[in-house]
Amino acid sequence: CGIVGILGKSAVSSDLVDALRRLEYRGYDSAGIATVEGGTLARRRAEGKLRNLEKRLLAEPLAGRTGIGHTRWATHGRPTERNAHPHMTDKVSVVHNGIIENFRELRTKLEAKGHRFDTDTDTEAVVHLITDELDQGNDPVAAVGRALDHLQGAFALGIIFAGEDDLMIAARKGSPLAIGHGSGEMYLGSDAIALAPFTDAITYLEEGDWAVLRRSGAEIYDRQGVRTERPVIKAVASS
Ligand code: GLU
Repeated sequence: CGIVGILGKSAVSSDLVDALRRLEYRGYDSAGIATVEGGTLARRRAEGKLRNLEKRLLAEPLAGRTGIGHTRWATHGRPTERNAHPHMTDKVSVVHNGIIENFRELRTKLEAKGHRFDTDTDTEAVVHLITDELDQGNDPVAAVGRALDHLQGAFALGIIFAGEDDLMIAARKGSPLAIGHGSGEMYLGSDAIALAPFTDAITYLEEGDWAVLRRSGAEIYDRQGVRTERPVIKAVASS
């Protein structure tokens, strides 16, 4: 239901939770964050309110400077910790708003290729699809570009990769997504309100866009995969 992402200068987990808190008004049943830590992906998730996730993080902190976060409003799979986002393999971690309409077909194909699914969500098909493209030797940007061609439905996605401390990929089709520009930091949010504490320099992705974010800036591609420019605007100040 809510997506946030930060390419930060220091540990991002508490900023991710703060950003998610600004999206609480949208409603959610569970929450989670994942970061890239020492080259590997690590995540913490919890059912219910954000304070449950915070308790988990207090007991088992995450130190990564690159991370994604999610508040979930379950559409496929019960609202359990196991089904909470971020979803991941050892190579990639994904947060998703919306519905992947063809997830059953994708899952059947990917399971036949040996991918083992852990959840009942539509989202997990995206994780294994990207992993499959990485397994075939594609770099992260190419892997996501190819995976997006196979996804039907409405989605906003935030994606991070093991071993990639300066990379986050975002994609928008039918669900809003905003990029926030910091100085030497970059942000992602399903709503610019989530990013208000960090920056008011915002780029809204347009329908079908996807973006490659690094601390130095964003490269945006349109639905045909053609590099494109979208304006940076000053977000209207909010509380
Ligand atoms: N369809 C996904 C799920 O059920 C995402 C739901 C959402 O937008 O929070 O996990």
